[in-house]
Amino acid sequence: MRLVLLGAPGAGKGTQAKKIVQRFKISHISTGNILRNEIKNDTELGRKAGNFVKEGKLVPDELIIEIIKKELEGKQSDKGFLMDGFPRNLKQAKMFGDMLDLLGIKLDSVINIDVSKDEIIKRLTSRRICHSCNNICNINNFKDAESAKCPECGGDLIKRKDDELKVITERLNVYEKETKPLIDYYREHNLLVNIDGTGMENQVTERALKHL
Ligand code: ADP
Ligand code: ZN
Repeated sequence: MRLVLLGAPGAGKGTQAKKIVQRFKISHISTGNILRNEIKNDTELGRKAGNFVKEGKLVPDELIIEIIKKELEGKQSDKGFLMDGFPRNLKQAKMFGDMLDLLGIKLDSVINIDVSKDEIIKRLTSRRICHSCNNICNINNFKDAESAKCPECGGDLIKRKDDELKVITERLNVYEKETKPLIDYYREHNLLVNIDGTGMENQVTERALKHL
């Protein structure tokens, strides 16, 4: 199974990705997680990408394509993959298409998680991420938000630096301009599956799985 997950920031890509990859035992390739780890470890790639991520801008395509190449060459993606956060613009989508052609493989589906802009802003400002395991939570789900720890591993929950309102606004602008056109692009390639991203997490997962 080879999948791409599309959706605005905060649409629930990371959460849904985790469940879908568990179900199909495929590898989860999240460019956002990869970049955040590189930045945390202060690698060369992390230093190149850091300011773009901090400002909510797209990291240059060349850096992203290198990441994806490495991931596809790795053994782990042999059984299939789910791309989360990639491609992010038409150029990346075309380069990705060429890469898959060269490898002689095809995408099975592109799932678009549809959520309104108001809901997105509400979600992102209350989102927290586990410093140790990247688990995604929402502080509205905890009785005591201040002292909450990661339910998966007990790690500290932190607010992503790019989940500040000013950066969220920039990321949504970038999404509208750069990423949203991919919905039509993949629809034209007969790969698009559009699902409603509102409601309980499990319901959203069910909606996606129904099509796969
Ligand atoms: P979200 O979908 O919540 O905005 P991600 O975790 O997917 O967050 O990405 C965080 C940031 O990492 C983006 O705002 C961008 O700076 C960078 N990034 C991630 N994926 C890509 C990509 N495919 N191309 C360019 N930049 C990317
Ligand atoms: Zn954790």
